[in-house]
Amino acid sequence: MRPEAILRSTPAGLYSPAGKFHIDPVVPVERALITHGHSDHARPGHDMVLASHPTLRIMAARYGEGHAGITQGVTLGETMTIGDVRVTFHPAGHVLGSAQISVESGGFRIVASGDYKRRADPTCLPFEVVPCNIFITEATFGLPVFRHPEADAEIAKLVASVAQFPERAHLVGAYSLGKAQRVIRMLRDAGYDRPIYLHGAMQKLCRLYEHEGVALGDLRPATVASGRKGDFAGAIVVCPPSEIAERWARRFPDPVACFASGWMRIRQRAKVAGVELPLILSDHADWDELTQTIADVGCSEVWVTHGREEALVRWCALAGIPAKPLHMVGYEDEDD
Ligand SMILES: [Zn+2]
Repeated sequence: MRPEAILRSTPAGLYSPAGKFHIDPVVPVERALITHGHSDHARPGHDMVLASHPTLRIMAARYGEGHAGITQGVTLGETMTIGDVRVTFHPAGHVLGSAQISVESGGFRIVASGDYKRRADPTCLPFEVVPCNIFITEATFGLPVFRHPEADAEIAKLVASVAQFPERAHLVGAYSLGKAQRVIRMLRDAGYDRPIYLHGAMQKLCRLYEHEGVALGDLRPATVASGRKGDFAGAIVVCPPSEIAERWARRFPDPVACFASGWMRIRQRAKVAGVELPLILSDHADWDELTQTIADVGCSEVWVTHGREEALVRWCALAGIPAKPLHMVGYEDEDD
């Protein structure tokens, strides 16, 4: 079987002609295999969806139970036959339930890694190296300038700032799926055991993480009774990134706007977003993780789905690995 019969890129997303399914399609399709719950990868309206059990629960929480005609939960590591190919989901280390999807026929294996990272994350299973012939990778941070610092050090900055400014509230902008829970869990691991306050938009997915066994400690709604601004002095409030510099933020005492994102590596982005305390915390692989992973999987070809594709393709060429950009559209790089 030719590689293009196993998996190829189409405007709707990656498609397996031999298996008759799409991976993370951007339009409604008959059969969709979903790598993870971020909204640019997991969309509603498919006839049938196969995804890890946590990813299905995330989709149901976001879109309602009727988001697909039929859903089928997949256990990571279990191999199934779909059409003429064998399919296995492996952990991707990106967010809770995230998976790489391995598609194999006649001993030839293509791995679609979805979004992934190699760093430790206490809220999800670590990335698994799956040896393959063709490795399909994202390149959100695919430039040598992107080297994420140690995550623990970024959390320590937040804890130190809270200690330094006991009269102020720290508003931490974090994406509601993955980043918010990772920040909270890392704060707990750093010994921060005071209540953490949540914007309404964060509550549903935090509860879901707790149901999935990720303990987040004492969480309370960030509701201000009239005239009692002082209640939040010295508190940490987790909210959507869009809220940290908006009207909503003004209900808290002298708020410190924080934003937990890989993009905080770019000073100008932090400045434009009105961020006082940037926390460089990413759920995507940085440059070193991307290139290390390509080396680790031992592939003989690389396809790059989205992000900063050109630099990574050039790195592959210099390393003697044929590579091509797929120029896939519909996948954003803002979920980090
Ligand atoms: Zn993602």
